[in-house]
Amino acid sequence: RELPGDPQSDSIPRQVFHACYTKVLPSAEVEDPELVAWSDSVAGLLDLDSHEFERPDFPLKFSGASPLTGAVPYAQCYGGHQFGTWAGQLGDGRAITLGEILNSKSERWELQLKGAGKTPYSRFADGLAVLRSSIREFLCSEAMHFLGIPTTRALCLVNTGKLVTRDMFYDGNPKEEPGAIVCRVAQSFLRFGSFQIHASKGEEDLGIVSTLADYAIRHHFPHIENISKSETLSFSTGDNGQSVVDLTSNKYAAWIVEIAERTASLVARWQGVGFTHGVLNTDNMSILGLTIDYGPFGFLDAFDPSYTPNTTDLPGRRYCFANQPDICSWNITQFASTLMAAHLISDKEASYAVERYGTKFMDEYQAIITQKLGLQKYNKQLVNKLLNNLAVDKVDYTNFFRSLSNIKADPGIPEGELLVPLKAVLLDIGKERKEAWASWVQSYIQEVQYVPGHECVLTNDYVHLVASGISDEERKASMDLVNPKYVLRNYLCQSAIDAAEIGDFGEVRRLLKVMERPYDEQPGMEKYARLPPAWAYRPGVCMLSCSS
Ligand code: AMP
Ligand code: MG
Ligand code: MG
Repeated sequence: RELPGDPQSDSIPRQVFHACYTKVLPSAEVEDPELVAWSDSVAGLLDLDSHEFERPDFPLKFSGASPLTGAVPYAQCYGGHQFGTWAGQLGDGRAITLGEILNSKSERWELQLKGAGKTPYSRFADGLAVLRSSIREFLCSEAMHFLGIPTTRALCLVNTGKLVTRDMFYDGNPKEEPGAIVCRVAQSFLRFGSFQIHASKGEEDLGIVSTLADYAIRHHFPHIENISKSETLSFSTGDNGQSVVDLTSNKYAAWIVEIAERTASLVARWQGVGFTHGVLNTDNMSILGLTIDYGPFGFLDAFDPSYTPNTTDLPGRRYCFANQPDICSWNITQFASTLMAAHLISDKEASYAVERYGTKFMDEYQAIITQKLGLQKYNKQLVNKLLNNLAVDKVDYTNFFRSLSNIKADPGIPEGELLVPLKAVLLDIGKERKEAWASWVQSYIQEVQYVPGHECVLTNDYVHLVASGISDEERKASMDLVNPKYVLRNYLCQSAIDAAEIGDFGEVRRLLKVMERPYDEQPGMEKYARLPPAWAYRPGVCMLSCSS
């Protein structure tokens, strides 16, 4: 029986029993590690003075080469369903937690080095990470945060000065690549798989599931901690015929419903900005509803519901853009089964959580699309027609929505001029498709136009005529707050990676600055809003796989 602090703990890969973590020291080899990039914003969360980044020993500490004072490093034990199949113990194979910082606002932040060497959970792999994927994780963590999407953060990125060998998935040949380490930061890195692993071991370890759930609730969901677990649960049927579960009698039921809803709201936001995670296995699902584990992710360029950035997921496309909402529902179902197995929730409560996931997702997704289009209320037909048009003509998702706010909602615009504001995003479409688009723009204008004194409203027994819609200027301002001009397109990452691999970190740092203000126009930075250049489509370039 291994105990978490067992002195025999080392990094020999093995099955770990009855423990949520193993103490392990960072062990990646380094040779003159350098600071590639850092986030002043995350430093702020940790009350870390930005001058600390300039200290000569900073790269040594954040590559794990010299110990951080007060740290008690450990690796977490978790399992997960990979591509729909239970895969047993999976991690943390290459992430080592250094410890937690309590900041001046009493917020608890966990610091974790990814790529700092082997742990007992490394299985067949080396515990290391390459510069290429570390740049992607570092930049996207911050880009997502500034898009307003819940995510784990990244404090800094250090290169180790050592090479790491990787089998290149597109030609099968091993290649040496520079090694790197990202310091990830989150309030918790607990995943669905952190609970699943213990339930999978059978009766004996079910107590660990509830101990860990209590820990998670106490630290991260304190508002539900005092709900008692009573034997009898009340159920009733709501007005709309849906079952209603009384969440005030079981804190674990309240907990999973909150996790389900946070997840739903996260996925709605991904769909809103055109983000595809790439590997939505249950070990990559955060209990806090954060985007976690940036691997083969991708933002949509041309709109394509079946977009699958992860080559390991072809041709099945389980984790393609359009499947994300359903897949996360499946993941919630697995997590709910774990809590059921541990006798923490009933089957009714489990199905209720899944149901609430679905409702919350639809509500949030419709609200986001409504805002993106600058509408007053959701219009299913208008949205469906638009998504269909975008897919048929492979229109750039980000640039389309950003341009849409330039449309003047004037029904008198001559038909030949309807598409002028969208000219730059509808470049290569044929005549018959122009008609389809003009017809859509016409219905759109109908929907958003400002009509003074158009709708009747009854207040205090008086009938008022009120304007419907908002002005063009107001609509543009509100749309530009939710339709980013800049997203972290794969080719932008690739350019920064190419430069960094030959020692020039300038582009990584510039890209971070641009992605910190995705909704601002940023004059002079327009090249970062361009479509992928031809080189990005060449075989092997910008190709991504599961773990590197
Ligand atoms: P992922 O598909 O990226 O979520 O990876 C699944 C698990 O594999 C992770 O949780 C890691 O623990 C492990 N893993 C991935 N890459 C490595 C590596 N190079 N060395 C050790 N473990 C790894
Ligand atoms: Mg993972
Ligand atoms: Mg990964």
